[in-house]
Amino acid sequence: MRVRCSRRDFLLTGAVLGAATFIAPREELRGQTTGTAVGPKPAGVVRAVSSANGLRATDRAMELMRQGTDPLDAVIAGVNIVEDDPNDMSVGYGGLPNEDGIVELDASVMYGPTAASGAVAAIRNIKNPSRVAKLVMDRTKHCLLVGNGALKFALAHGFKKENLLTDKAREAWLKWKETMSDQDNWLPAQIKKLPEDLQPVMMTHGTINCLAINEAGVLAGVTTTSGLSYKLAGRVGDSPIIGAGLYVDNEIGAAGSTGVGEANIRTCASFQVVEFMGQGLSPEQACLKTLERIADKARRWPKSLGLTDAGGRPTFGLNFYALNRKGEFAGATMTGRSTYAVHDGQKNGLRDCAFLFKA
Ligand code: ASP
Repeated sequence: MRVRCSRRDFLLTGAVLGAATFIAPREELRGQTTGTAVGPKPAGVVRAVSSANGLRATDRAMELMRQGTDPLDAVIAGVNIVEDDPNDMSVGYGGLPNEDGIVELDASVMYGPTAASGAVAAIRNIKNPSRVAKLVMDRTKHCLLVGNGALKFALAHGFKKENLLTDKAREAWLKWKETMSDQDNWLPAQIKKLPEDLQPVMMTHGTINCLAINEAGVLAGVTTTSGLSYKLAGRVGDSPIIGAGLYVDNEIGAAGSTGVGEANIRTCASFQVVEFMGQGLSPEQACLKTLERIADKARRWPKSLGLTDAGGRPTFGLNFYALNRKGEFAGATMTGRSTYAVHDGQKNGLRDCAFLFKA
């Protein structure tokens, strides 16, 4: 039998949970949204939407689209800034490594007009997996290359092998390793508390997703990540899985995600967001309804996964970003406060995400 947690936990009204095609968010959610504030516009809108770490990406993507660059190339150039940045430890160079101290990256791209996609997973030593994903789309008949095969393919296309593990990421990994267990041969970490600037490196996840539409109505998206930090070697998250970490349908809109990828893969969630938009939901409604579905399913997942608390409420972080072909957009998070980046054609900035649960 299905176990349901109290509806009082939800910030959404019963209409969200019960209605087949329409969600009526409560006033407090409405107050948080900015996506629908843009208002329906037929065509001619230009937008770039990203996870909160993507302010430079949305700015760059907008600049390039204004110069006539195709939206897919524009979002890839945008996320390349973050892939190249050693200070973003959730993506590309400087990303936190797997349990063996090796950085393995995942990325995907999808192009609205052709519905084509490309992806790489668990690729090592290549700083810009998003660019390799685009090559998989453009230069092969495949959708996804993994591990060594992905690396060989990148090298064949002239990419250079690089050490992606920065000292900062290595030190964080080392501390994680040394504090994992008192039943192994590692002595406790020498540094009990990492210095202030190393504190954030103990975080366990992060990713960048960037979506865009240009004046001609061309939609595109990219998602790129170093995945969950200290993951098992070979673990692949949602970011390179089309339908999970990214989905684009030029007739409807685009969606992408950051957060615990396993929750996303199990629910084909970015595809779901786009499908809900196709049924007439706004980007925000579509994101929230997808989060609500995931929360509902999570109650059935094995307790041993640690993805729900005693009341059945999700303990994991998950965000969606959505952009429809009218140029309406939204970001939404499972629990608490979160932000996302938007360039709406006039200004670039962070906005509040809608949320399903109060923190
Ligand atoms: N979604 C990414 C993954 O599961 C991680 C994240 O976004 O935090 O690999």
